[in-house]
Amino acid sequence: MFDCLGTDHAPHTLAEKEKPYPASPSGMPGVQTLVPVMLDHVAAGRLSLERFVDMTSAGHLRGYAQLAGKPIAADERRLDHLVGKGQLAFTVDQGPDTERYQGIVELGEDTLAGAADHYFKQSEQLSTRLILASGLGTAWRSTALMVQRLPGESPDPDAWNRTLHLLDSLTEDELLDPDLKAEDLLYRLFHAEGVRVFSARPVEARCRCTRERAEGALRLVPESDLPDLMVDGRFIVTCQFCNSSNIFSEEDVRQLRAS
Ligand SMILES: [Zn+2]
Repeated sequence: MFDCLGTDHAPHTLAEKEKPYPASPSGMPGVQTLVPVMLDHVAAGRLSLERFVDMTSAGHLRGYAQLAGKPIAADERRLDHLVGKGQLAFTVDQGPDTERYQGIVELGEDTLAGAADHYFKQSEQLSTRLILASGLGTAWRSTALMVQRLPGESPDPDAWNRTLHLLDSLTEDELLDPDLKAEDLLYRLFHAEGVRVFSARPVEARCRCTRERAEGALRLVPESDLPDLMVDGRFIVTCQFCNSSNIFSEEDVRQLRAS
């Protein structure tokens, strides 16, 4: 039975770890290996995929997009045109009291999905195909379908190629069809391969911003910068993800900086 998952990146004795820095031996990065290693255990039947998901996700999601003022022409939809040169960072945050891990790859692909494929190849060493679609019907709708090759020997060496081939037959209209359920779409694509659907887990849209975090930010602002941040006698801390605001009076800020 598994109750919790942890990764140890400094496999040293307590006596070694208690030495002051830099006399204590360093650990090494490795949070990114947790998923492939645990998937190996899933493949070996030591742990169910559902239980693995249970232990690594609380079901909170956050995703926001900003709409451009005008529609983007089809020939301008290349990723480099939209965001310029840069890097794609994936942050794996497994909740409080866990280490955050960030994987970064160069943006060298034409599409966001291509950049994500590249990331999985480089960082997780798991072959992955991600298909993204969004469009305006009666409302804006975005969908994604991701397939990933699990570690371990497959009894069918051609299965992955066949999967990619089937995936190529998928159209954007199918992905965006509000009347086509995810299960039906999977069945339509992969019925010959055999489809197994796990029970759904509830997910909840939740941003990680809190009033306490806003207070923390206000505590860190240098005293000399405070007057510039004040608007009509108040301080407004707006979350750049969800756009919600926390409002503080001058007195609030004085008290929290004194505490
Ligand atoms: Zn927020």
